[in-house]
Amino acid sequence: MSGRLSPRPGLDLTEGYHSPQVEVKNRLNTNESPYPPPEEFTQRLAQAVAGIEFNRYPDRGVLGLRSQLAEHHGVLPSQIFVANGSNEVLQSLFLAFGGPSRRVAVFEPTYALHSHIARVTSTEVEVGERDDRFAIPDAELARVVGTGAELVFFCSPNNPTGRVEDRDQVRSVVGAANQLVVVDEAYVQFADQDFFELFDEGSNVVLVRTFSKTLSFAAGRLGYCIAPSWVVAGLESVVLPYHLDSLKQAAAALLLEYLDEMVLRARSIVEQRKWLESSLDSLGLLRVDSSANFVLFNPGTDADLVWGELVARSVLVRNCSSWPRLQGWLRVTVGTVEENTAFIEALSEIIDAMGETT
Ligand SMILES: *Cc1c(COP(=O)(O)O)cnc(C)c1O
Repeated sequence: MSGRLSPRPGLDLTEGYHSPQVEVKNRLNTNESPYPPPEEFTQRLAQAVAGIEFNRYPDRGVLGLRSQLAEHHGVLPSQIFVANGSNEVLQSLFLAFGGPSRRVAVFEPTYALHSHIARVTSTEVEVGERDDRFAIPDAELARVVGTGAELVFFCSPNNPTGRVEDRDQVRSVVGAANQLVVVDEAYVQFADQDFFELFDEGSNVVLVRTFSKTLSFAAGRLGYCIAPSWVVAGLESVVLPYHLDSLKQAAAALLLEYLDEMVLRARSIVEQRKWLESSLDSLGLLRVDSSANFVLFNPGTDADLVWGELVARSVLVRNCSSWPRLQGWLRVTVGTVEENTAFIEALSEIIDAMGETT
């Protein structure tokens, strides 16, 4: 074969997004819930699936699910857009409102997918820099927003730092003409603040949520956003027809009946996070105060080495150390009591052993 077609100009495929999936006992690397959905949900799902008319296309407007979500949030179904994971919500935002000749402002370090999807959709990225405590300096916020980027992205709580964004800072940029302010709230149920108060039909605010974390539904791929109706209409215009299959619509609608229970579970994960944080403190390690279901910490010595030693003890955490601005940092997802204990025991063993050899 000669002359293989290269991907379209401007598409940078060298930086695909991957989280290594290694076979270990304690998987604390992708911020999933350690618990499966309630057993009753799984049983009822089998019945719901049996009732699906598989020879028919799904409900194209996803009205049932959107109405349920709208009722939960006290908004209109026309202010809810649902997609295959919040990543597809983000991609749809870029397809509809980003793209060639458009720009997005992001504040690094943050969720890598934001700038990755920007690049895939040929949207230019204006990078703002957080300070060494991962907060956005006021002057940097003003500089980056002042470039006139059409999309301004925040992430609260931010991944991978766990910090919530500053309320006054986000509020200060809402309302500008010809701009959308997007807040990725994937971890919001683990925090004690959200940005819902900034949203109304007359605003330019988009709040992105997911079923992947609190709702124990990462395998199901479902996310949504709360946005003004005109934004939702824009998003609808770029997704494929029938993009949400009937299986997913049925499963998600059923899962929402267990929302209260799942939010209670999130509280117990927060309790476990506090235990992890104080255990890291006891080991004398630098860490960031988290409002999410993970903790960013700095093992103080060679992070790659510590990461490998953890894997050798069957604990997988996220190695952020090779990411720009995060050299020396690792991120651990809050798991079950057993997993968290296994992690802290392994880590303290590794740190002790390193202390002895130096
Ligand atoms: C995990 C995560 C998501 C979730 O993506 P899905 O496609 O819904 O699984 C979104 N945003 C951030 C910041 C995340 O960390």
